[in-house]
Amino acid sequence: MPDRRGIGMTSQRTRDRLINRLKDRGISHVELLSVMRELPRHLFVDEALASRAYEDTALPIGHGQTISQPHSVAKMTEILLDGIPKKKVLEIGTGSGYQTAVLSRLVERVYSVERIEPLQNQARERFYQLKHNNIRLKYSDGTWGWEENAPYDGIIVTCAPEEVPEALLKQLAPGGRLVIPVGGSGKQSLRVIDRNGSSFEETVLDDVSFVPLLSGQE
Ligand code: SAH
Repeated sequence: MPDRRGIGMTSQRTRDRLINRLKDRGISHVELLSVMRELPRHLFVDEALASRAYEDTALPIGHGQTISQPHSVAKMTEILLDGIPKKKVLEIGTGSGYQTAVLSRLVERVYSVERIEPLQNQARERFYQLKHNNIRLKYSDGTWGWEENAPYDGIIVTCAPEEVPEALLKQLAPGGRLVIPVGGSGKQSLRVIDRNGSSFEETVLDDVSFVPLLSGQE
């Protein structure tokens, strides 16, 4: 992987500007902000887009997919980690691996499922280069979660299904939390689902815009 650290549009100053913007938009989790300040988001996009990596915007990563907007990553992570054990987290939609990498610095172990193999392979290479050793990846349709390692303290979904997949509820530990965008294009909202014993409590948050959760593998 080419070394593209620390110059011009990817410099620490540019990264700090993004962190200040996240704070202005209400993100207050100190450890999370520090992880996002350190993590080189420009290494999670194509070199041609590196100069835009610290704008608060989603960017294309090929295969019709996008790396999530930094504010969405920060907000979903902040909500996910609030009050759950920081042990085992499952992510559906590895994509570039940026959200996975953020989580991996904040919890003991991250499991992530992706249905597009080339994206998964690129993400794996990035984790290796950046020495994120507590991430496990699976090439699969995330609608089914990842049963072998269940239950999870937290589950985060970075693509939007029309309805909450049943398997994800089943794989949530008691006291665990699921953060997921739900709905078709143009009418998605962010949902937070908390499991208390065998009952689930759902909170509907802001309208959001994620790529759709698609079934099957590519
Ligand atoms: N967290 C990623 C988001 C990438 S976009 C990042 O910030 O880069 C959402 C990702 O979800 C895409 O890579 C897409 O291929 C993946 N996806 C969509 N449907 C899926 C499914 N059923 N199972 C697993 N991954 C899925």
